[in-house]
Amino acid sequence: MTMPVSRPTSLRLHFAIVGCGLGGLAAAYCLGRAGHSVSVFEQAPSIEDVGAGIQVSPNLSRLLIRWGLGEELRQVSVEPQSRTLRRYETGHRVGWTKRGENMNRDYGSPYYQLHRADLLDMLFKIASPYMALYLNSRVVSVDPALGELTLQSRRKFRAHVILGADGVNSLIREVIVGHPDKPIPTGDAAYRAIIPTSEMCKDPDLKPFVDHPEATAWIGPGRHIVGYCIRDRRECNLVMLHPDRGAARTEAYDVPGNVQRMRADFVGWEPRVQKLLALVSHTLIWPLFDREPLDTWVHPSGRVALLGDACHPMLPYVAQGSAMAIEDAAVLGVLFSRVTSRQQVLPLLRAYQNLRYPRTTATQLAARANQKIFHLSDGPGSSDSP
Ligand code: FAD
Repeated sequence: MTMPVSRPTSLRLHFAIVGCGLGGLAAAYCLGRAGHSVSVFEQAPSIEDVGAGIQVSPNLSRLLIRWGLGEELRQVSVEPQSRTLRRYETGHRVGWTKRGENMNRDYGSPYYQLHRADLLDMLFKIASPYMALYLNSRVVSVDPALGELTLQSRRKFRAHVILGADGVNSLIREVIVGHPDKPIPTGDAAYRAIIPTSEMCKDPDLKPFVDHPEATAWIGPGRHIVGYCIRDRRECNLVMLHPDRGAARTEAYDVPGNVQRMRADFVGWEPRVQKLLALVSHTLIWPLFDREPLDTWVHPSGRVALLGDACHPMLPYVAQGSAMAIEDAAVLGVLFSRVTSRQQVLPLLRAYQNLRYPRTTATQLAARANQKIFHLSDGPGSSDSP
């Protein structure tokens, strides 16, 4: 006779997540669905993302589809058929990668381009039932021994685990490393703009970029431009990477850039680039900050840990920052789905770091390498490229 196996009862923990960006929302969803109670503290007065596009590679779309967002994702996205690299001053094609059905074939999930706000909305919708959200709630300090955070309003909250999903300028990271730890300016900044494709379609030189959904990158010495359509090809997202030259002094993402200066940064680039930039009426400027890979994401008390840009900020040169933050959340959700005692919390958090660290570090370093590759100076004979 076999005895029935009695399963230990799952323990319901309370997680306090600092930051309601893409990583924080994904963590709220994954931990809430794993049966835990979740409070999210966000310094901003509302949850909204800046006007910019985002590339969702198969490693991320796979998760979103698994979370029931496949149809919605398909509706708000453009699925690029390819990616083309072009030489900056002639526009000649210097590289080409097939995407479209190859992504499904090789990686088991589609590649998408969409608006960041649409992705944030989707995650907000699925996370909402699981979280208590506190807006206008800037966290100003954390006591790692007590698992207690203090807001700017001086209100205090306690949790079993505080998760720092507070981005590249993370305050919670300083709690983990034990000293002030500021991000390092890379010397590059990104202009970001969205233009209506109805304007592009009036110009026979630009219309093919709308008709044929692909991501295009023009690469040149010290700078590059990425353009792709989003929102059923009604909008085109442009990202213009360039040397910062002190124009971008803050670490915020919503600082208006100077359109004239932006155009001046790309004088001499091929005529289609000039036409695209002429359609930009306003732009945001995002300074790019970096950090060395951090080898401790978890406080020894087991009460504080990091995820997303807070522990592994990604330069945008491999379009993987959000994907890595959301993957972190997925791994945490799985690991904490069967916790039965408080003693398991620290080993589980350490397992989370061990599982994620090699992948996020490799991706961070790949992004850094791409910064150099994309921005190489011209070599001998480069202007003779076909
Ligand atoms: P964030 O999105 O930065 O969110 C942090 C949140 O914490 C914010 O809401 C902030 O207000 C809040 N916060 C901060 N401090 C506090 C505090 N003390 N108290 C309370 N709240 C606080 N990634 C991709 O996957 N694909 C792309 O195509 C892509 N393109 C990019 C293009 C550019 C130009 C850049 C700069 C980045 C790009 N990324 C891309 C990277 C991606 O944007 C980030 O890696 C991602 O947003 C990180 O998510 P996060 O949740 O960790 O942090």
